Amino acid sequence: MTTALSKSASPEIKLSFEFFPPKTPEAETLLFETAAKLGRYAPGFVSVTYGAGGSTKAPTLNTVARLIRETPLSTAAHLTCVDATKEEVNSVIEEFRSVGVRHFVALRGDGAGGVGSAYQPHPGGYENAADLVSGLRSIDDFEISVSAYPEKHPESPDVPADIDMLKRKVDNGATRALTQFFFDNDDFERYLERVRARGINIPIVPGILPVHNLAQVQKFASLCGAGVPKWLAERLGPIDDKPEERAAAAIEIATKQVTDLIRRGIDELHFYTMNRAPLVSAVCDLAGFAKNERVEAVRSAGAAA
Ligand code: FAD
Repeated sequence: MTTALSKSASPEIKLSFEFFPPKTPEAETLLFETAAKLGRYAPGFVSVTYGAGGSTKAPTLNTVARLIRETPLSTAAHLTCVDATKEEVNSVIEEFRSVGVRHFVALRGDGAGGVGSAYQPHPGGYENAADLVSGLRSIDDFEISVSAYPEKHPESPDVPADIDMLKRKVDNGATRALTQFFFDNDDFERYLERVRARGINIPIVPGILPVHNLAQVQKFASLCGAGVPKWLAERLGPIDDKPEERAAAAIEIATKQVTDLIRRGIDELHFYTMNRAPLVSAVCDLAGFAKNERVEAVRSAGAAA
């Protein structure tokens, strides 16, 4: 399929991998093993999530500091501004900066009730992610990524309002958007066309979630406004309690998704890893990302189709 997306295509596929801060020493060991395994795909960066309201400040900071100190991976820190004053958020930014962070994923975060709960800006805080981007920009020349929602954020009244918020984030200095996970590439492509039509030209990087557990993904998707297509539920539902079959199917589904995105001209992908390597590395191997050797072949086949 030839689309407006193809114009910016480049032969190199840039990858990034998202982790969450581990809660136990065992989980920390697993995360660092995962980072080492995924490091062989030469990601542009990895990122570590940050609990809303600063709930994971210490573990996020420790994980990010260790990744910077002990691995060659360029590491971004997620940062939320919910439930904190500007001074509190700025001092967290300073802490991250002091351990070598040069790239933030700037987010508003969810209200105290968790995903889907009503959001109240802190009276002395950053109002939303766009405001946080301005704050970061005023502190240093950081690389700043932000979120984007191909299927609309659940709090947005409509898609144009959602894209307006993305525009504000970009106008304030964001240089890349990472999307919420999605499973229907047509949804993403429609969204991208609207984003480009709104004059937003930064990379909009698809968020890819290889499904580790369908029931969990369905639960999370219903809270964050992402759709789980019927075909996906029908394929994975009957095998959700059969880990090996489920993993094989999840790998096949995610590989098809990324291969199709590449054919449509996408050249950056952000993987939600769940801190585990097997599914993500299998997808990367099958899609040819170990050396990027198959990417051109996939593209050429797409152009000829
Ligand atoms: P914003 O971009 O500020 O807003 C999201 C949408 O809500 C906007 O598009 C806008 O349309 C609407 N909106 C915002 N304010 C208003 C308003 N005043 N009136 C009307 N509509 C409004 N959460 C975490 O806690 N930690 C993380 O590390 C984390 N990482 C994430 C990484 C990615 C790639 C993504 C996609 C999400 C992540 N989240 C994380 C989830 C995110 O915090 C939630 O989706 C949150 O609800 C919104 O944060 P945001 O930065 O997207 O908000």
